[in-house]
Amino acid sequence: MVEDSLSSNAEFLSGWEMVVGLEVHCELKTRTKLFCGCMNAFGQEPNTSICPVCLGLPGSLPVINEHAVELAIRIGLALNCRVDESIFHRKNYFYPDMPKDYQISQYEKAINENGYLELPLSKKRVRIERAHIEEDTGKTTHVGGDGGRIHGAVHSLVDYNRAGIPLVEIVSAPDLRSAEEAREYVSELRSILVASGASDGKMEEGSLRVDANVSVRRSGSREFGTRCEIKNLNSLRSLGRAIAYEAERQVELIESGQVVVQQTRHWNEDQGVTTAMRSKEEAYDYRYFPEPDLVPLCPSKEWVSEIGSRIGLLPADRRKRLTSLFEGVESGSTFDQIVTVVGLGLDELVVGAVEGGADPRLALARAANEVAANMVNQANLSVEAFGELIKMESAGQLSATQAKTVLGKMLESGYRPQEVAASLGFEALDTAVLEALIDQVISTSPKEWERFSSGEDQLTGFFVGQVMKLSKGRADGKVVTAALHSRRA
Ligand code: ADP
Ligand code: MG
Ligand code: ZN
Repeated sequence: MVEDSLSSNAEFLSGWEMVVGLEVHCELKTRTKLFCGCMNAFGQEPNTSICPVCLGLPGSLPVINEHAVELAIRIGLALNCRVDESIFHRKNYFYPDMPKDYQISQYEKAINENGYLELPLSKKRVRIERAHIEEDTGKTTHVGGDGGRIHGAVHSLVDYNRAGIPLVEIVSAPDLRSAEEAREYVSELRSILVASGASDGKMEEGSLRVDANVSVRRSGSREFGTRCEIKNLNSLRSLGRAIAYEAERQVELIESGQVVVQQTRHWNEDQGVTTAMRSKEEAYDYRYFPEPDLVPLCPSKEWVSEIGSRIGLLPADRRKRLTSLFEGVESGSTFDQIVTVVGLGLDELVVGAVEGGADPRLALARAANEVAANMVNQANLSVEAFGELIKMESAGQLSATQAKTVLGKMLESGYRPQEVAASLGFEALDTAVLEALIDQVISTSPKEWERFSSGEDQLTGFFVGQVMKLSKGRADGKVVTAALHSRRA
């Protein structure tokens, strides 16, 4: 991950352990909504993708979207769940962004139950309690208040385009023990959802939204503490920060003789704190009852197994495929890079380049670092062009510094590496020019050269650095080192 690291369990307040369970809402990548033919699209003009069904007008009736059910089943299978018969319920509550004043969801019998997900780095198995189908709500925008919150707002706007978009809510068991594990879980879950074709995984567009349940207990204790639920975390960074803050808040409360009150809390990104939204006493009574307008959902065994056979390679398989290009990398920095590359869906790029003859280690490193840092432009990079660049670097036609620059420009422009290198004047330094640069460096640092010549190897870096500087990064470090050593002999 190209992100700051957060307090791991080891650094958490000594004598305490945190317990985290996550509820992840995933928008399904269908063409239309869950119960009507309106488009499922992000960023449309407000209230243009609506109809009597998703507006809940009297007399309208829902019809289940088969593709949404198929994607939900893919999620269940990818998460090792038991996929079975299920029914829909009405979850009743009054809120302006929900036009029907109830949400159609699954309550007692979810389509997917009792699965698990394995974390790639810690190899820990996190149980999935359920992954059920429900419809999304609309969106309210509060205008004129403080930070977009309803409190103090002058007026509020409602957009129903999102109402009725199919969601799968994935509920984990309380198996996570640190903010880092929670982030790893969401990151892996996101990769699985994208790889299974169920979701685009875009947290920044709200396709993936996380509620975090957090409690703390004394180390060694077997009982769970009272939990708080932090709503709507929409980035891995917020997730990690919110959990770490909330767990420390609870420890401080208990250590100062107070108690944790079961609450729903809001994460304030700017202030880095969670604040109370509502407590258990104010919790909604949802008055669930079976949805009378929909029949039970009974996918046949044949259909489920046919769906299973069409799921492509999942992240775990993709990591195996990449790992097989190297020797003995079940952990360590190469494995970390493999996890990053698969997590970002860059593994095809690396595998393709290697199949075309590129060096695996170099291809992996460039993908995990330079390409990963420029994901917005990733579509500009073809497997072939990436492979050519790696081969140019391996062959010494480009120094490491030059290769990184060329790759950056390729990502921005979509040009081939040869074109970019030529336009930047990055031709490999010919030997005569390099030797001349070395002469120049030796003449400006005669004392250092004498020491280096008499065997002080620690000065290698100094001389390579000087030559690199003079060549403005065009020289290849390995070639310079070899030239320096042959001069000394
Ligand atoms: P609810 O029905 O109130 O949503 P659930 O039992 O479905 O409660 O749990 C919701 C989420 O809370 C699950 O992800 C679960 O893992 C998590 N959870 C339950 N108890 C705790 C606890 N003591 N600490 C942290 N998370 C918990
Ligand atoms: Mg819940
Ligand atoms: Zn509609």
